[in-house]
Amino acid sequence: MDYFSYRKNKLYAEGLSVERLADELGTPLYIYSERTLKRHFKVFDSAFKKVPHLVCYSIKANSNIAVVNTFVNEGSGFDIVSGGELYRAMKAGAHPSSIVFSGVGKTAEEMGCAIREGILLFNVESGEELRQLDAVAGRLGKKASFAIRVNPDVDPKTHPYISTGLKKNKFGIAREEAIKEYVYAKNNLTNLIPLGIDTHIGSQLTQVGPFVDALKKTKRLVRTLRKEGIDIKYLDVGGGLGITYEGEKPPAPDKYAKAVIRETAGLDVTLIFEPGRVLVGNAGILVTRVLYTKKTPQKNFIIVDAGMNDLLRPGLYGSYHAIEPVQRGRGGAVITADVVGPICETGDFIARDREMEEAVGGDLLAVKSAGAYGYTMSSNYNSRLRAAEVMVRGREYFVIKKRESYADLVRGEVIPPVKTAVKSKKRG
Ligand SMILES: *Cc1c(COP(=O)(O)O)cnc(C)c1O
Repeated sequence: MDYFSYRKNKLYAEGLSVERLADELGTPLYIYSERTLKRHFKVFDSAFKKVPHLVCYSIKANSNIAVVNTFVNEGSGFDIVSGGELYRAMKAGAHPSSIVFSGVGKTAEEMGCAIREGILLFNVESGEELRQLDAVAGRLGKKASFAIRVNPDVDPKTHPYISTGLKKNKFGIAREEAIKEYVYAKNNLTNLIPLGIDTHIGSQLTQVGPFVDALKKTKRLVRTLRKEGIDIKYLDVGGGLGITYEGEKPPAPDKYAKAVIRETAGLDVTLIFEPGRVLVGNAGILVTRVLYTKKTPQKNFIIVDAGMNDLLRPGLYGSYHAIEPVQRGRGGAVITADVVGPICETGDFIARDREMEEAVGGDLLAVKSAGAYGYTMSSNYNSRLRAAEVMVRGREYFVIKKRESYADLVRGEVIPPVKTAVKSKKRG
């Protein structure tokens, strides 16, 4: 449930008219509802209140420091996948002891920063990474805690690009190898502390089954490791709980929680969760203005001012995002149209063959469920300025990211000195 709704046929974000925000701040515009963010966190967190747990919001879903700060205030921990996300977490006021660091390609430098900050643990994804982590911790004269991300080889039944827990994926370590690595670390890598075990199987999961399958395997592994004298205190279940984009019926957090709690009963671990999409996805919309419409013998095109540089998911995964008129009920004809952006790529679309009310130049459209993997995946392709982001709180709003300027666009770029000038000097 979210706090975007119609009043007298005008779309509102909490207590503010979306049209007014678009008129004042321009488009394309990302609008987030603070109340929705908080509600989503509370629903998720309280579903696990009976068991020891730590919710670590996965920053990559929406990394604006205002969003991260909202979750800091709700008591969230954080899942980071880069030094940049560590920086954002610290800027937003996160407590380092609530941070877990995931990802297959952490650099020594990133590891060093995270160790110095004192994060809770590293989710390690290869034997080489484990050795590197030990070396970095040793150089700093510190201990680093780790969990191995075990690849449970289960099919999350989601889009192949966001499946991560299959044997063929680049993520994690297979079970047998993971056991060997824990034992090796225990005996040889003296700067490391084995603290947990991690499994993240993919994103936008709409069934409980794959989570349960992964947990069954992980549970057995925890018991095996304990027999080897490796005391696993944290079980990181990862993220991946899906949301409704187009009629999917993902399990509600309490249903997911019930299954997870049942599966991990008696294991005596603190559970870690890394939800991203489920916390922020439906808390954000992307507002775009129609520039032109165009009819060809094959298609109706609605050309809008948001492109794949603003919202990549449709072009990258073929994802569906609902599109609603900011002013509805005008009785326009229902047409089938492609909603496309200004970018010079055929993959630049927000919707294809969509049945929707006819729109005309100047109309505002709201692209729903854009709070996750929206702005964070945006780019400057075609030298387009990244959109602004605004947080709504009741009847107030806060611009939490300014729209970029042309000067921002070339920041850091340098033109080398003219070659001929150097030559003439030599001849001089
Ligand atoms: C992306 C990611 C998440 C978050 O996934 P969602 O589907 O957004 O919940 C959690 N953990 C890891 C390791 C990830 O890479």
